[in-house]
Amino acid sequence: MYDFEPEKVRQFLESHNVRRAAIQLPPGLRRNLREIIRTFKEAEVEAVVLSDSCYGACDLADVKAKRLGCDALIHYGHADMGLRTVLPTLFVEARMKIDPRGAIELALPELEGKRWGVATTVQHIEHLPRIMKFLADNGIESVIGNPGPRARYPGQVLGCDWGCVRSIAGEIDGILYVGTGRFHPLGMVLATGKEVVAANPISGSYERVRGFEDFIKKRAAVVGRASSYEDFYVVSSVKPGQRRLGLARKVVRELRQNGLNAELLVADEITPETVEDFPEGGVVSVACPRIPIDDVERFKRPVLTPFEARVMMGKAELEPYELDEIEEGDA
Ligand code: SF4
Repeated sequence: MYDFEPEKVRQFLESHNVRRAAIQLPPGLRRNLREIIRTFKEAEVEAVVLSDSCYGACDLADVKAKRLGCDALIHYGHADMGLRTVLPTLFVEARMKIDPRGAIELALPELEGKRWGVATTVQHIEHLPRIMKFLADNGIESVIGNPGPRARYPGQVLGCDWGCVRSIAGEIDGILYVGTGRFHPLGMVLATGKEVVAANPISGSYERVRGFEDFIKKRAAVVGRASSYEDFYVVSSVKPGQRRLGLARKVVRELRQNGLNAELLVADEITPETVEDFPEGGVVSVACPRIPIDDVERFKRPVLTPFEARVMMGKAELEPYELDEIEEGDA
């Protein structure tokens, strides 16, 4: 299903004279370990598989790999977002071979008569020219936005960078998203105010995502719960592409100026365990913008984004909702 680019890996290992390589895999690719590791065995390179969490190219383990005596890091499943590394690093994007046009064909009646932005994740990025041609052959106009600060390719969205769809919001009626899950479609609706048709190449089906009333209600409830606290923890991650200590300090300052107690916490991964042993209090996360949204059910304590913290302090309205995004140079 995925292209693990064994030839490119082999050449990289050879050209850097690698004897020991660290392998970093997101959870969804770990079941493919045998296939991935074959290339390293054939090249007689010792593979050190890092099994800590890994959700994005923001989370490079080059420093850890160096400490383990590795000569290189091979990071699977994400596109390079331009972070500097202390070891030669190869990104294997693990693109999916599945042709998404079957799912898009089913969605054609929804698409007719409108102009669509097309967006996807790196796994399906190489299908974009084919998708645009397919739409044009069916009389549907489409456009692809330039990548935002953290994305690498035109048409690519990340949970912390909606720049590519925001840049074309003024010239489209809606967005055709190719991929799985609900987070990206919802993010694009919030970032642009446009309807999203999400075509899932794996299930071969599609879904329309329009309103975000439920989302706003849920976030309003989290902000409401947080407002009952006087103590807050502002948590920042040390992951190289999630580190926003400047923002964390600013949020701490603002909370204190509003008469609240606020402490800065720093951790690698932000989980319920990161905060639960500290005295009772609300949490503001300045790490991956997905944490407060995706992990809302996991945390017993209310976890806010920096924008939601401002809403709680009466400095902003919840609508229009501002998604947290990581800017270049924010870390
Ligand atoms: S910060 Fe979050 S959304 Fe952005 S790349 Fe990292 S894991 Fe993905």
